[in-house]
Order: sequence, then structure tokens, then C-alpha cells
Amino acid sequence: MEKLLLGVMKFRNLVQPSMLPSLKKLANKAQPRMLMITCMDSRLCPTSFTQADPGDMFIVRNPGNMMPHSQLFGESHQSALSERAALELAVSSGVEHVAVCGHSNCKAMAFLHQSLTPEENTAQNSWVSSWLKRYAQASLTKFEQLDVHASEVNKITFSSNLREHEKMELVFDNQKNLSAVDKLSQVHVLEQIQNIKSYGFVRDLLDKKALQVHGLWFDIGDGEMSLYSKNDKKFIVINEQTLETTFSHLITAD
Ligand SMILES: [Zn+2]
Repeated sequence: MEKLLLGVMKFRNLVQPSMLPSLKKLANKAQPRMLMITCMDSRLCPTSFTQADPGDMFIVRNPGNMMPHSQLFGESHQSALSERAALELAVSSGVEHVAVCGHSNCKAMAFLHQSLTPEENTAQNSWVSSWLKRYAQASLTKFEQLDVHASEVNKITFSSNLREHEKMELVFDNQKNLSAVDKLSQVHVLEQIQNIKSYGFVRDLLDKKALQVHGLWFDIGDGEMSLYSKNDKKFIVINEQTLETTFSHLITAD
């Protein structure tokens, strides 16, 4: 707590004076353009990694950057879930982008991966495992299509309930040393994109091209943020070069 209190004092003395004009403007009105859904992991600092300012984005955080599939609830409003409410609130507030951000060495993904080998699963009867079992089983099923030890390229297709042009593929280049849990985490990010697109109010905006859904993945060890590229069928590091090539359409579109 001491660190928090001293941090508030540091903010008050060094940062707040220069931020005050923009905070005053935001006091009664904000128009965030993005909803980010990311993991609660303490090492992830989404506003810092993206240099976002106050008012730029809504953020939903939970274990394993999850947005449960709409079919798990039906159309009834009886079963309230914060993630679902947050998605509805953000979309009705006019966000133009929803991004799911996973990360390396994710504890939630490690728990999920452990359920493949129940004898190693030490958290079977925890709330975390119930949460993962209920909402992330589809990611695990998808992941099981991969042969993680294969020497050749592995590919997973995400196409259920999606229009053909929305089909996504994820290819793992086995030269790259991603752990099995990190691969599961990337599969899981794309599965969350599908889950987001399963909501009727999201579909309407997608059809009108008023909303885009993106997959991000942060490598904690090397501090690099990657964005899923549909054309390249993989997560690609965001840097000067890829901003001019792979992701240039996203810069001009904004
Ligand atoms: Zn995590």
C-alpha cells in the first residue's frame, strides 16, 4: 500500500498538473474509440504499452482475457456477467475497435493447459478452473488440433458461425520457440474474437463496417506487442517496418 500512496503523491506532483487541462475536458464527456479485453496479469500495463491517454479506451480485465461466447447465455438477460455487460456498454457507446490482448506466460492459460493432463492439475476445484472450464473449453479443443511437437507447420482454422470472409487461420512456425502454453494463449485470443462476433449487437455493427475486432499478444520477456494479421495467419510484432507494410491499412483507416 505504501508504494501506491507514494505513487499517488508522485502523480499529484509530477504528472497531474500537465494532465489537468485534458482531464477537465474529459470530466463530463469521453468518447473512447476502443474496448480492450485483457488479462488481469500484473505484468500487463495496457495503457503504458499502448501509450493510451485517459478517455482513449475502455478496459475489461479478467483471468485469461476472456469474452464468453453468447451461446453460453442464450438471448436471456437473466444471467448477468460483467464481460457481457461491458461489451454491450462499450459497443453502445460507439467504440470502433474491440481488441483482445493475450500475453506470454499467462497463468490462466497454464491452468487451462494443465487440464489436458489432469494428474498435473493442482487447481481442478478452484474458481479459476471453473471459470476456465466454463468459458475457455473451446480454446482448448481448438488447441488440441495442433501437434505441438510437429516439425512442420501447424495450422488451425477458425470458421464456425462466421461468414467465409471472416474465416481466420493461425499458423505456427515451429522455428519460433513459443511454448505450448503461449501457443494456447494465441489460439485463445482468436477464439475470443469469435466469441465477440457471436453477439447480435456486434454482428450488426460488423455488417455495417462500423466495428473491427482485433487480436493482440504481448510478449512480456521482450516487451513486444504483436497484432494478428489475417493475411499472414499469425501474430506479427508491431514495429516501424510492419506499420508501413502489414498494418498500414489500419493507420490510414483511422
Ligand atoms: Zn494472463
